[in-house]
Amino acid sequence: MGSGILLLAAFGNSLTWHLQRFWGASGYFWQDLWTKLYLQFEGHNAAMFYLGTMLAPFLTFWFTNGLLLLVDLTGRPSFITRYRIQVDKNIPVDQGKLWHAIKQVVFNQVFLSGPMVIGIYYLMTLRGDPCGPQLPTFHRGLMELAFCSIVEEVMFYYSHRLFHHPALYKHIHKQHHEWTAPIGVVSIYAHPLEHVFSNMLPAVSGPVILGSHLATTSLWYCLALFSTTISHCGYHLPFLPSPEFHDFHHLKFNQCFGVLGVLDRLHGTDGKFRQTKQYERHFLFTNFTPLSESIPDQPKKLQ
Ligand SMILES: [Zn+2]
Ligand SMILES: [Zn+2]
Repeated sequence: MGSGILLLAAFGNSLTWHLQRFWGASGYFWQDLWTKLYLQFEGHNAAMFYLGTMLAPFLTFWFTNGLLLLVDLTGRPSFITRYRIQVDKNIPVDQGKLWHAIKQVVFNQVFLSGPMVIGIYYLMTLRGDPCGPQLPTFHRGLMELAFCSIVEEVMFYYSHRLFHHPALYKHIHKQHHEWTAPIGVVSIYAHPLEHVFSNMLPAVSGPVILGSHLATTSLWYCLALFSTTISHCGYHLPFLPSPEFHDFHHLKFNQCFGVLGVLDRLHGTDGKFRQTKQYERHFLFTNFTPLSESIPDQPKKLQ
């Protein structure tokens, strides 16, 4: 255990060193870009904050999901569909069910996420200016993203488990689970109460606790939305994080409640998952052979 932590720390150090070198070369570029943007807004910080925390994540979400929806609706290109996790599902996706989900997603974004971000701006201005002229240092940004990710894991895991309590599940979380084979856009298809307490609060709390700069907050929101889209998208694509964990949650309901999987390990809520083929496939792979072929459900018979 001790040596594992040491190894992880060493790996972390060398990784930040390499990234820092990359950042050193482009750091001035980003600061320069930020300065130009900052001057452009002439002190209209609230407007800058809303564009960064509403528009940028909104565009990230719909650009990624627009591409995924093209694949879900047309079943093409087959280059992508061959990476489907639940191979016999959503071919093609049910349009009525999809339209119903999209309406709820837009409602959640416009009427819940939007007003929440306005509240967050006023909360953050109480502790200082989140839109300062100076970007945070590279290390600071990286540490803040790591912190936000841990806060999200803790808050999402426990609120998600709470929503699986029979009393709450029936009235609230069942809606999100209508999709036993999820697609990207379903990531924020949820009852409004679930969207506020289990989707938004775990994601927005980190930057509020830290008093983060707008650039970090905006990047974190975009990353969080991209990551939840990938974990719901139904395709285990090369060079992207594995969605097997959360896909399995939609398939079996009582396994894999977290984001990172750390708390599931701690609480033993990944026991069944760890005995499956999906678990064997749960890693980021870097070639073009779909994992359903390289790790088939039934081992190939020897010729
Ligand atoms: Zn889900
Ligand atoms: Zn659930």
